[in-house]
Amino acid sequence: MACDVDTGAVFKYPVHCFGCDQAFYFTLRKIAEAKKLACPVCGSDINLTDEAYGFVVTSVKETIALIDQSSRDLQRTSIAPP
Ligand SMILES: [Zn+2]
Repeated sequence: MACDVDTGAVFKYPVHCFGCDQAFYFTLRKIAEAKKLACPVCGSDINLTDEAYGFVVTSVKETIALIDQSSRDLQRTSIAPP
């Protein structure tokens, strides 16, 4: 059975919490899909739509796009052998 792990659900990216001034790791999928996250320590809302997180969200989405693209390439390769 081929490995079908979703890289975006495994890889994590640090997101800064302004409530407790620390960075916490969330999975790429979660960052890309959620509009806000809850800090695991202080419980503050981490509002990903805030422009302070613009760079984080953009780079995470770019990474997700690359992951999706390469997994599509892999599937195509396995379905249609050379
Ligand atoms: Zn916090």
